[in-house]
Amino acid sequence: MDDLTIPLEGPQAGPLERRRTIGVDVGGVIVGGGAPVVVQSMTNTDTADVDATVAQVAALSRAGSEIVRITVDRDESAAAVPKVRERLERLGLDVPLVGDFHYIGHKLLADHPACAEALAKYRINPGNVGFKSKKDAQFGAIIEMAIKYQKPVRIGVNWGSLDQELLTRLMDANNDLPNPRSARAVTREAIIQSALMSAELAESIGLARNRILLSAKVSNVQDLIAVYRDLAGRTDHALHLGLTEAGMGSKGIVASSAAMGILLQEGIGDTIRVSLTPEPGGDRTREVQVAQELLQTMGFRQFLPVVAACPGCGRTTSTVFQELAEKIQGDIRRNMPVWREKYPGVEALNVAVMGCIVNGPGESKHADIGISLPGTGESPAAPIFIDGQKAGTLRGPNIAADFEVMVADYIEKRFGSKDHARTEA
Ligand code: SF4
Repeated sequence: MDDLTIPLEGPQAGPLERRRTIGVDVGGVIVGGGAPVVVQSMTNTDTADVDATVAQVAALSRAGSEIVRITVDRDESAAAVPKVRERLERLGLDVPLVGDFHYIGHKLLADHPACAEALAKYRINPGNVGFKSKKDAQFGAIIEMAIKYQKPVRIGVNWGSLDQELLTRLMDANNDLPNPRSARAVTREAIIQSALMSAELAESIGLARNRILLSAKVSNVQDLIAVYRDLAGRTDHALHLGLTEAGMGSKGIVASSAAMGILLQEGIGDTIRVSLTPEPGGDRTREVQVAQELLQTMGFRQFLPVVAACPGCGRTTSTVFQELAEKIQGDIRRNMPVWREKYPGVEALNVAVMGCIVNGPGESKHADIGISLPGTGESPAAPIFIDGQKAGTLRGPNIAADFEVMVADYIEKRFGSKDHARTEA
């Protein structure tokens, strides 16, 4: 084929137009309504343990969680909520707190007005708000509290605790059809109906539409995609995305990224939570890091400078480039809370750390600053590219340390001046 012309029309790279939803103000953070997709997370501390909860909320917030959910499961935890809020304020952290209620939320909110006031949003699971005749009354009581305290709610359906009465009714109706749908499809429909009917009920009680978010979480990737596609077509409420019980380690990361990546690409989702099961003693902030990396890698938001590193292969036996890439990535993450203030726009930085000259110089040219370390049999020299131009060659035993200094200098020169911040804005 020797036709080198470039067609004027070709496939576009980019997500579908973002679905228009009603924006909801969650303690000053806007979710939906065209706002950037919000990252949120949840603590796993006993909320009644104020010290532990404050420490974890602070860590999640500093890692970049824009909303943090905490468990409110009994009187002691409800009583602790205003203390947690106050301690966070003293630390200068205004991250909105969401109360996660199950079974007795109506009672806890009524008995602990300071808790109702301190929370920025109430999460209600319609599947376990109460049973039979009590269900609507208890759900209504929480909605009345949201109206009284002018708070939004998330109606969070979860198929592990799906409203069994609704599911039974839909299963019975399905069985009467000439061509019944699969039990799995009926379950998905029950999840969606549970969310939509609960939202309708909340509105009928008097909660404004712009105080309602919906979620419909399942643990299977394909079911999650199907549920949210369907739900997004049937409502304009802002949607909270998340795969429930995603799992540990790479399994949880891959499953969450696959499911939410597809939905986000289709313009669905206003806030995300990556529900990772931490390793014993593991760092809870990992879920925030994964959520940020998902949004950044897809081009929706920028949180951190990107370090592009090659995977390494037989052309380099050196681990210097792996260590250097890891070190630079770690330095960036550690320094970001300060850099965000000191170097406006630094999150757009691209650094390349490559293992040899096969792809090294090419990748380095595309980065803001890049290094190509010597591969096996190559002369012990590491060419450096800055803004697409060769800027020198590092040699000797201190290549890694010298490159780190060059990255720091580049950041200072490019992002350190206030004049630069003005022109970039
Ligand atoms: S840049 Fe070199 S070392 Fe890295 S993967 Fe490519 S060929 Fe291998």
